[in-house]
Amino acid sequence: MKNDKIICHVCAFKMESKEVKDNCQRCGTDLQNPEKEQLQKIGVGNYVRKNILSQCLCALFLTNKRLFLVAARKGVLGFGSDAGASGAIALRQGGGSKELEFSIPLENIQEVSEKKIKLSKSIIIKTKDNEEYNLNMQELFNKKAQEEWVEAITEEAAIQ
Ligand SMILES: [Zn+2]
Repeated sequence: MKNDKIICHVCAFKMESKEVKDNCQRCGTDLQNPEKEQLQKIGVGNYVRKNILSQCLCALFLTNKRLFLVAARKGVLGFGSDAGASGAIALRQGGGSKELEFSIPLENIQEVSEKKIKLSKSIIIKTKDNEEYNLNMQELFNKKAQEEWVEAITEEAAIQ
């Protein structure tokens, strides 16, 4: 068949089948063995880039192996941080950039917590190699959205 597309089972990135070898061109997951890595949770939020101190709209993916983030492609508008899972699906399929903003293996996560920064609360993820990530995953219609993320990451990474 012509123009065959392969869609990643984890990040939903669309690829030309003739270009694809064994791994997703964006998230790198093993496309030949999709049972190995599975998506557990996805949502839209804001990521605060550390060095530039700018926020970017992003989709956060939690799998049984890692936590990774895809930034929105420039010019993609229309998703607020209240967009939740439906906005995340749009970002996954068409509006997300090709590069990952970060990807943290679950075993490298040391601590996940909610922290009050200025007027809002952020999720702070600390890794065993002393990196720190700052995300805002609040949703307008789900006051517990961030709490749920902290719980889900804590559980998946098996942090006490
Ligand atoms: Zn992928």
